[in-house]
Amino acid sequence: MRIFITGGAGFIGSHLCEEYLSRGDEVWALDDLSTGSIDNVAHLRDNPGFHFREGSILDPAPVLDLTGTCDAVVHLAAAVGVKYILENPFLSIRTNVRGTETVLETAARFSKPVLIASSSEVYGIQTKAPLSEDDHRVLGPTSVSRWSYASCKALDEFMALAYHGTMGLPVVVVRLFNVVGPRQTGAYGMVLPRFVQQALKGDPVTVYGDGSQTRTFSDVREIVPALADLMACDAARGEVVNLGGREEISIAGLAELVKSTLDSDSEIVFVPYDQAYGGSFEDMPRRVPDLSKVRKLIGFEPQSTTEDIIRRVADAMRR
Ligand code: UDP
Repeated sequence: MRIFITGGAGFIGSHLCEEYLSRGDEVWALDDLSTGSIDNVAHLRDNPGFHFREGSILDPAPVLDLTGTCDAVVHLAAAVGVKYILENPFLSIRTNVRGTETVLETAARFSKPVLIASSSEVYGIQTKAPLSEDDHRVLGPTSVSRWSYASCKALDEFMALAYHGTMGLPVVVVRLFNVVGPRQTGAYGMVLPRFVQQALKGDPVTVYGDGSQTRTFSDVREIVPALADLMACDAARGEVVNLGGREEISIAGLAELVKSTLDSDSEIVFVPYDQAYGGSFEDMPRRVPDLSKVRKLIGFEPQSTTEDIIRRVADAMRR
């Protein structure tokens, strides 16, 4: 198979390129290198099955070319990271809405199957746990710009489902829950690589808010095979599917676990949200995926503990 991966030089994208190549597929990666990096795929450049194109999903030309070339499209390119979204609101909205529309429109033109990466952010401040795909979303006001990301991703989902419903386009929408692993940078706000880096350097570990908010981290090494399996799964067509890890942990608990796992002397400091993100900010209090749907579709069962993931991220950073 020939696979077109948008955002192929990003954190998840670069791991997915490796996954497809290891399955014997050929990969075309498109990336504008905004938050992705050529270093993430440098080790793949001599692989004859790997092809890289620098370009944006906002430019219809490369999307048209690569969709025509390939058998299936995995759409990962997006503005990501809470910090990045808050600092680049306009570009983020444009990338996450217009970019996805371009990808879907082009896939429909060629009738190529497409996987759309969405996010657990769409659930908003829902406190229910675990969250299942049909649960209601609870979002804050438009004056709090954090919610633009959740709204854009939800719009992407609506568009994908509409293309499926009205034109029969084979789509699957995957809601990713806090995927972490090597190559993820803390530069755009992601907590786990930030804490690991802080702990390794002996810097203060910065917990935002009171640290009672929870997340469920998943290991990119387990997520990318599941993405490829979902892309290939006929029963997943037209479905929205959660994909994530298995251990809920508070952010204060994560800070403690990072310190103990890495035997670090860093102190833990609590930073008020307004200092961390400026202005009005609302955090998600709790986020735990219900994985029963993905288990049924492809037999997915996450194995990694949060401690395993911390060790792998730290090992990669040390290297
Ligand atoms: N967070 C933190 N310290 C940091 C970066 C993030 O305490 O240095 C918190 C953040 O406020 C949120 C959680 O960690 O409550 C997860 O943040 P991240 O940006 O990684 O993911 P998301 O909020 O999208 O789940």
